[in-house]
Amino acid sequence: MGVARPHGGKLVDRSTTKDANQLFSISVDADLANDIENISDGIFSPLEGFLLREDFEKVIAKGRLSNDLPWTIPIVLDVDKETATKMKDAKDVALNLNGTNFAILHVEEVYGFDKNKTANGVYGTTDIKHPGVAKTMSMKESLVGGKIDYIKRPEETQIRRYRKTPSQTREIFQKAGWKTIVAFQTRNVPHVAHEMLQKASLNTHDGLFVNPLIGKKKSGDYKDEVIVASYETLIKHYYPQNRCYLGTLHTEMRYAGPKEAIHHAIMRKNFGCTNIIIGRDHAGVGNYYDPFASQKIFDDYPDIGIEPIFYPAFFYCKKCLSFASEKNCPHGAKFQEQLSGTKLRTMILEKQHPSEYMIRPEVFKILMNWENPFVD
Ligand SMILES: [Zn+2]
Repeated sequence: MGVARPHGGKLVDRSTTKDANQLFSISVDADLANDIENISDGIFSPLEGFLLREDFEKVIAKGRLSNDLPWTIPIVLDVDKETATKMKDAKDVALNLNGTNFAILHVEEVYGFDKNKTANGVYGTTDIKHPGVAKTMSMKESLVGGKIDYIKRPEETQIRRYRKTPSQTREIFQKAGWKTIVAFQTRNVPHVAHEMLQKASLNTHDGLFVNPLIGKKKSGDYKDEVIVASYETLIKHYYPQNRCYLGTLHTEMRYAGPKEAIHHAIMRKNFGCTNIIIGRDHAGVGNYYDPFASQKIFDDYPDIGIEPIFYPAFFYCKKCLSFASEKNCPHGAKFQEQLSGTKLRTMILEKQHPSEYMIRPEVFKILMNWENPFVD
């Protein structure tokens, strides 16, 4: 074993020095611009652009690309019919964010799609209250497929300091001499239980890649900067420095539960990870998914090329005198110290200090001192 092979065998690189300023241009939003950058950097390898119809339909129906490679989340560009026609005529189209033409799409195919079928295939439901379904239902009617070329990244910001490309992380892992690398997906500030879960994997693997997901948030979620600052502090004080690496992944949560667990695994494989921790209800929302569906789905993907590690939730047990789980502790709820997200939020707002078994004091200090750590 070494650093994992990229998904599909080859790391995609779609960066270019071409000029797009004479082209017909369309605007995209920041979330889509992130994903276009992800395509260019090879985070979505083997995708080189937006899905063509054959790939799209098989992703929805089977969770695989037309060449049978595992792929569960459609990466597409939706436009109205009129724009689609113009794009088809133009062939090469500039993609614009906030006035900058940052990429070129080479239009290969324009096609229609069935929204109900798409929602069902990805999210397993057509309930409009599901955020992914709501997004699908609000899509424009035409999809435009084709390869992209990437010209210009956004301005460097505080939060982009931790954004790394797969070729960068692969080099970092290789230099560190790690052969087995565990990815940890998160969109939360770290509780001690999360830390213990990550550290459990370090007993049996060489390196840990803490990879918070940065992107569109719901109101009440922690701000991206807060999550990154919390992890910086936690790692500095509590992790062996040569065994852990912090990098951010800039893409939106889809809340697709099991299908998204597979997507999360593929992206981390491209970063060079050999394993990914998949917890209870990974990437779930509300009660749409069986808590273990995100683990069970890996049975359908023996060929995915990254090994999942299934962990139960950890808690501190006052009788065991250690962090434990329902798998190894017989003592039951009355001995458990567990910190829920809701409980932590209340404690921050009411300035009560939680126990050190719940959250590290250095991390809690950051949350307390942030003017408003939550998304409005
Ligand atoms: Zn116990």
